[in-house]
Formats: sequence, structure tokens, C-alpha cells
Amino acid sequence: MSEALRIWHPFTQEASDPSPIRIESAAGVCLYTDDGRRLIDGISSWWVNLHGHGHPAIAAAIAEQAAKLDHVLLAGFTHEPVEELCQGLREFLPEPLTRIFFSDNGSTAVEVALKMAVQYWRNIGRPEKHAFAALEHAYHGDTVGAMSVGARSPFTDPFAGLCFPVHRVHTAYCYRCPVGKTRATCEIDCVESLGRLLEKEHKQIAAVILEPLLQGAGGMIVHPAEFLQRVRKLCTEYDVLLIADEVLTGFGRTGRMFACELAGVVPDLMCLSKGITGGVLPLGATVATERIHEAFVSTDRTKTFFHGHSYTGNPIAAAAAVANLGIFKSEPVFERIRNIESIHAERLAAIRTHPAVGDVRSIGSVGAIELRADDAGYLSALKPKLYEFFLDAGVLLRPLGNILYVLPPYVISSKALHFIYDRITEALAFVER
Ligand code: PLP
Repeated sequence: MSEALRIWHPFTQEASDPSPIRIESAAGVCLYTDDGRRLIDGISSWWVNLHGHGHPAIAAAIAEQAAKLDHVLLAGFTHEPVEELCQGLREFLPEPLTRIFFSDNGSTAVEVALKMAVQYWRNIGRPEKHAFAALEHAYHGDTVGAMSVGARSPFTDPFAGLCFPVHRVHTAYCYRCPVGKTRATCEIDCVESLGRLLEKEHKQIAAVILEPLLQGAGGMIVHPAEFLQRVRKLCTEYDVLLIADEVLTGFGRTGRMFACELAGVVPDLMCLSKGITGGVLPLGATVATERIHEAFVSTDRTKTFFHGHSYTGNPIAAAAAVANLGIFKSEPVFERIRNIESIHAERLAAIRTHPAVGDVRSIGSVGAIELRADDAGYLSALKPKLYEFFLDAGVLLRPLGNILYVLPPYVISSKALHFIYDRITEALAFVER
């Protein structure tokens, strides 16, 4: 008999990683294994879950929509859930962001933004503007365009020859300041590398792409708001589009609906996914300003944005997203986030001076600890040890190498969050040994 068809797990090294854990069910902040264990989901199942697993409003919206209209293509058709989602999102988005293009996940939301930026300039008669500037430590997804604008890393190394060239500029990684300053003495000097690049190359650059205020996979690096504000200013000054990848930061993660809002910045293109459905179904979206969209409206059909996916604007995912927005209105979501934020602040302050800790960072519902390590980086030997340590303690945390972070669903109780930090405190003693 031929071999069974088996799962090829993402981001998994079968030779050394532990066998996958079978999850039977999930409720609130907990995952339940089929051998009767309970795990607190300390990373919101890859940063997607907002209001806890199995939220009844989202589950009901999905069931109702599946029975009514499961799917229809969005080219030449439209439907109620996707229209309702547009109206719902409109209330949270700043004025010029009025056009939304749907796709399936964070990577596709980024691909769409990159392609829109390039074609925008082409459509208005400036085809030479097709290059991108992106930040050190950036992560924008795993498809080829998204990888290209992401920083080179073990994720992208095998594909270096495939990725298109990108101008790389400094990021505001204050703990490892790229220009050798400290926060006390700096005037966001790191942004000058973008300033110098744009001064020289702006005629060729279509857009700057960044993760606003929080670079996630690159190490949970929190930026001062002024960095984002200065980037916005430079983009405006040099007539270069700003793409804000809010795939992680969107839907409350940083304490406001969108990180850009926290910095008072409006991008030209915004990428959304992860929390858009409350973390229940895949959906991506790229929001553009009217100015960008207008450049695609023409009797010349070659100016059309020829991009789409089979499941673009899927009604069931859209219904889940509408229900998600409803929860933001019917439940004290931002109060919950503020509570998480204050616990992060209190517990991180208490461990900041621990000898195993290099830096602590937090923003909104995200708290992170950069551990001292000789092999700092995604492949740090600390990661597998810590991962197993926390699983044994009943907590799902998945360190990014030597960066340990807590990014829970917003409904986590104070008790459960303190429980996670108590385990982290134990882990620090173990790291030190
Ligand atoms: N952009 C950012 C900022 C992300 O953090 C991620 C995923 O972690 C992505 C894009 C890619 O999203 P997806 O994994 O849904 O393709």
C-alpha cells in the first residue's frame, strides 16, 4: 500500500521539532488537546484571535451566512456581507481611505498593495516609479513580493535569488539603535537613512512599506510614534506612497483600532488581515485612498487592476468580519486591551533588570522580552527550550528566537495573564542557568 498522505506543517522542522499537538476544541483563551490537557493561547493562535475562541456572535454569523450564500465571485457581483463590511470598516478608517480590495490573507493583502502602488504610478504616466523602500527587520509575509520587502532572514535566504531588489533603510530599533544613539539623546536620527534615500532615489520609488509602530516577526520591535510621523512626512515631501502593513497591528492590537491612528498618521495604502474576522476565518484587505483608485478608472482597459483570488470577498468570511466589528461596539474591547496593557507594563517593569533580560517592550496588548543570548536571532537555541517549557506549564507561547512575547486574545482574564507572567518569571531563572 502507498504511504498515507501526511501534513507538511508550516514553519516546522520535522527532524527536530516536537510532534504536533492534536487540538480537539477551543473556547475563550484556551485550547483543549485530545488527551485532556488545557493550554492558554498566549499568542492568539498566530496573532489572529481577538475576542476568544468560539465567540457565539461570530459562530452564529458564520452559520447563518453559510446557509444563505456560501460563495460567489466578486468580479461582476456583490453581496450584502461584503457591503456591510465596507460600511462597518468605513467608520474606523480615516477619510481618504475609501477603497477596499479583498483577498485571502496578510501576504496577499501586501502583494495587492505593492502591485497597486506600482500600477498607480504607471497609470498616471510615471512607470519609472516601481521600486520600494522597506525597513530592516521587516516582515510582510511569505509570498514572493511580501518576502522581497521583508528583511533577509533564514525565512527568505533560500529564495534570495528570487526576491526583487528593495532599498533597505534603518528602523527604530531603540535597543539595538542602528545609529548608535540612546533614546535620551536621539532625535529619531534613524529616519535620516530614509531621508537620504528618498532625496536621491524618489523618482524611482513607488512606495515605502512598513509595519506601523510594531514590527512583529522581526522581534516585536516597538517604534516611537515620531518615527512613523517622520516617515509619513518624508513620503509626502518626496511624492512616494506610504503602505502601512497593519496585518498584525490592526483591530486594536496596539490600543487603537489601527496603529496609524495612534500616531495620527494616514497612509496611502493599508493592509489588513489576521484580526479582521476576529481570528476565525481567512480574509485579507487592502485599503486605498480615492486618489489611488481614481488612477485605475479609465476607458483605457489596460489601466484595470487585473488581480483577484477565487475566494476574494467570500461572504462567510465577510459575515464573520461584520460580527467582529459588532463586538467592538457591543463589548468593552478597548477597556480589556487597556487592562492587558497595564499588566504588561507592571510585570515587564518587574523583570526589566533580571540578568537574563536585555530589553522589555510593550504596546497595547503586546508585551515582549528580548532575552540575552549569544546566538540572538530567530534560530536561537533558546526558542525550542522555552517553547517546550511553556507547553509543559500549560501555556502556548512561541518565542521568536530569543524574543519572548505575550500577545493574548483581548478577553484574557487578569488572573490568566498573571499566570503567564509567573511562568515567564520561572523561565527567566531557567534561562539564566
Ligand atoms: N504582515 C505582517 C505584519 C504580518 O505579521 C504577517 C504575518 O504574521 C503578514 C503580513 C502575513 O500574513 P499571513 O500569514 O496571513 O500571510
